[in-house]
Amino acid sequence: MARLAQTAGLTDIQREILSTVRDFVDKEIIPVATELEHRDEYPQAIVDGLKELGLFGLMIPEEYGGLGESLLTYALCVEEIARGWMSVSGIINTHFIVAYMLKQHGTQEQKEYFLPRMAAGEVRGAFSMSEPALGSDVSAITSKAVKDGDEYVLNGQKMWLTNGGTSTLVAVLVKSDEGHPEGTAPHKSMTTFLVEKEPGFGEVRPGLTIPGKIDKMGYKGVDTTELIMDGLRIPANRVLGGTTGRGFYQMMDGVEVGRVNVAARGCGVAQRAFELGVSYAQQRHTFGKQIAQHQAIQFKLAEMATKVEAAHAMMVNAARKKDSGERNDLEAGMAKYLASEYCKEVVEDAFRIHGGYGFSKEYEIERLYREAPMLLIGEGTAEIQKMIIGRRLLEEYRLQG
Ligand SMILES: Cc1cc2nc3c(=O)[nH]c(=O)nc-3n(C[C@H](O)[C@H](O)[C@H](O)COP(=O)(O)OP(=O)(O)OC[C@H]3O[C@@H](n4cnc5c(N)ncnc54)[C@H](O)[C@@H]3O)c2cc1C
Repeated sequence: MARLAQTAGLTDIQREILSTVRDFVDKEIIPVATELEHRDEYPQAIVDGLKELGLFGLMIPEEYGGLGESLLTYALCVEEIARGWMSVSGIINTHFIVAYMLKQHGTQEQKEYFLPRMAAGEVRGAFSMSEPALGSDVSAITSKAVKDGDEYVLNGQKMWLTNGGTSTLVAVLVKSDEGHPEGTAPHKSMTTFLVEKEPGFGEVRPGLTIPGKIDKMGYKGVDTTELIMDGLRIPANRVLGGTTGRGFYQMMDGVEVGRVNVAARGCGVAQRAFELGVSYAQQRHTFGKQIAQHQAIQFKLAEMATKVEAAHAMMVNAARKKDSGERNDLEAGMAKYLASEYCKEVVEDAFRIHGGYGFSKEYEIERLYREAPMLLIGEGTAEIQKMIIGRRLLEEYRLQG
């Protein structure tokens, strides 16, 4: 029945994957999402279903047991899943970023060791840049690794790890002074460590504590945590790519594809909000007719649908650009910025269409209203996207002579 957000030029395989995922979302996610979300309950049965569908290995190359699909396929699946429940897309997204970073930057041994188990969903990834005192300003990281023989000793506190409790592999970005003389630019003295751990809370490995879940306004069900390193010893072969000092670039590469996925989440949540709004508008009557027949409500629906279409088109464009091997930071920044802002606006309009019932927990739009703001923040705030977009525009349009 969906007319909006269609994607031209998909292969038969892509169409088949998407139709399977959409079916799964309609049958297994939408009917239970709001109830689980209100209980802040981890959706274990849904995660098991996604494992069976092979979603944890969607972009992992076939030689490592994955499906070897493109960023576009992945983003379109994320859009479908977020349409059902955004928290579920959060569960696969950090996993996907870590798998992507391993595929792009890992040593052969690291790829062989992690990727097949990641494709099967047995090893699940989280990624950790933010700290209590910083999120946007990654260069200000204070967590530190110091070399000690064949190992590194890590100390510091991290913040806002999506899947911090449920993951068993965390890509952690820290400062590493080894080999980088005093005065080295901050982004050249950072290293990504591949930290394996037990799932759960408390001391999950000697020197590594996951204190507990952060209580959030929305995006519930998926666990978001702090991470405390206190003399955490990591062998040198768990430096991503084998060489220190490259962590900042590796993480930024991961975040860039992550941005396409946050855009895709915005598209999915906005689509669902539109569906809820257009449906409610035909059920509720005021002044003797359906509210959908009042021009003011039709105009809202028109604006909402236009935003859904525009965000989808930009997200698809950003994914295709990356898949073609081209730099896509401009497109990914624009897609993430537009899709998250539009998502917030479409959700708000759907909420208004619901009148007082939108404020009731019985109606799905209440959940979406609490989910949308996260997209304005995650993978870089709107201000950070605009900084990236602005810088790139000045590069492209630099005056000559
Ligand atoms: C639910 C949730 C899950 C998350 N998951 C993860 C995760 O898995 N891994 C991870 O590493 N992080 C994660 N984060 C952290 C997230 O990436 C940061 O919150 C985000 O980057 C913003 O950083 P901050 O919160 O420190 O805000 P700040 O950087 O302190 O920014 C505060 C405000 O100042 C603005 N601002 C900052 N610098 C500038 C500037 N130069 N010019 C103009 N305005 C500026 C910002 O746009 C914002 O409005 C998560 C956050 C949330 C809420």
